[in-house]
Amino acid sequence: MTLNIAIIGAGPAGYYAAEAALKHWGGAARIDIIDRLPTPYGLIRAGVAPDHQSIKAVTRRYEATSLGQGVRFVGNVMVGRDVSVEELLGLYDAVVLSVGAPHDKALGIPGDDLPGVIGSGAFVSWYNGHPDFAGLEVPLTHHGVAIIGNGNVAIDCARILAKTVEELTTSDIAQHSIAALEQSAVRDVHIVGRRGPHQASFTTKEAGELGHLTRAQPLLRPEDLPPLEEDAALEPGHRKMVTHLRGFAAAERSQKPVTIHFEFFRRPVAVEGKGRVERLILETTRLEDGRAVGTGELHAIPCGLVIGCIGYRTATLPGVPYSAAMGRFGCDEAGRIFPGLYASGWARRGPSGTIGTNRPDGFSVVDAIVADVPLGKGGSESGGGGAGLDKLLLTRGVRATGFADWQKLDAAEVARARPGAPREKLVNVDEMLGLIG
Ligand code: NAP
Repeated sequence: MTLNIAIIGAGPAGYYAAEAALKHWGGAARIDIIDRLPTPYGLIRAGVAPDHQSIKAVTRRYEATSLGQGVRFVGNVMVGRDVSVEELLGLYDAVVLSVGAPHDKALGIPGDDLPGVIGSGAFVSWYNGHPDFAGLEVPLTHHGVAIIGNGNVAIDCARILAKTVEELTTSDIAQHSIAALEQSAVRDVHIVGRRGPHQASFTTKEAGELGHLTRAQPLLRPEDLPPLEEDAALEPGHRKMVTHLRGFAAAERSQKPVTIHFEFFRRPVAVEGKGRVERLILETTRLEDGRAVGTGELHAIPCGLVIGCIGYRTATLPGVPYSAAMGRFGCDEAGRIFPGLYASGWARRGPSGTIGTNRPDGFSVVDAIVADVPLGKGGSESGGGGAGLDKLLLTRGVRATGFADWQKLDAAEVARARPGAPREKLVNVDEMLGLIG
């Protein structure tokens, strides 16, 4: 008996679900990994920082899964536009939504709709060459930039703005971003945290990297650091991260032209400017029971760009239960939305964790499918599964692409790379389809 599984989203969560399914059912599973872009790998390609190439090496593992028996990559097909979840449920035994959390959470303060306010999802996608964001306006003409949030995404954004173009040479940053960064007037990058150094969710490596940049120095106010003896209560990894911050506070001021200012105990209250961002207004906070409470003391940061790095939410899909409060699909702990429909990765648990955190999600979704789905809907012979999808897409004039097509694009990107860079990303879907032929 064949089991037909559709996995929506060719990012880490999707690939780990496919890997777990292959491990469980072997050749008895027919797995379609469907993605709206002709390029696979989701967040690895469009989210992980372009100067963190070692993390991107995991795509070799996903490639092996793509080439596994019974697995297809079905690119350039958007669920919700080209085919509905309901239709997929009719064709496949199980549908797994591994669509991530692509939408930025809004800052929710006056002025957050001014030109010059963007979310990290947009900014990160811009420098990573996601086709939807190639034309994003990223104003780099002002000396100040405010980055809101104290997570690794905030650090990624600050580091990309602070690095020299030479430091980015060996990255796969999009060509349009290199061109913009070459002209950048940015000299003061403010990383704003509503709580303190002990509450920041930076990891050690990411925080430490800021201390080794060619033209930028990280700075923080020593009075924002808790007494040294309080570090003893921290988990060892977190303590090391805080030690980096202590080092930044103690370092002598260098002549480096760019400063990364850690603005702890400050919460954003308004963005101001005539027709576009001119300054961010912050309120000093203090901690009460671990929560940030405003003190009424206000400060202005002059800036032309505000990047909100405060989290993401999953996109809604017609007919799929959604928790607005959690910003993800409504599902149980295993990822079950209802028997037959599942969520994994950020679409299940919200935007947290490293790439590897998605691996157990794959296994728990497969366990749920095993418990729920006793029989297969048959394969091509029954008109179900991938054959049924192909037929449907054909009638709708949707041009689906396969893994061999991606391999062509991959080769083209590698061939046109800048010297020292791993690839130059294609950022236009029509151009990609033209190259596929
Ligand atoms: P995150 O670690 O959850 O950080 C979000 C930050 O936004 C927190 O500091 C939070 O403050 C702040 N925040 C939330 N709402 C806010 C508001 N209304 N006003 C001001 N601040 C607000 O999330 P992330 O940085 O987006 O990262 C997402 C996940 O990807 C994380 O698990 C991260 O570690 C991972 N990631 C890993 C890497 C890497 O390993 N290299 C790189 C990038 C991302 P509070 O703490 O006060 O709520």
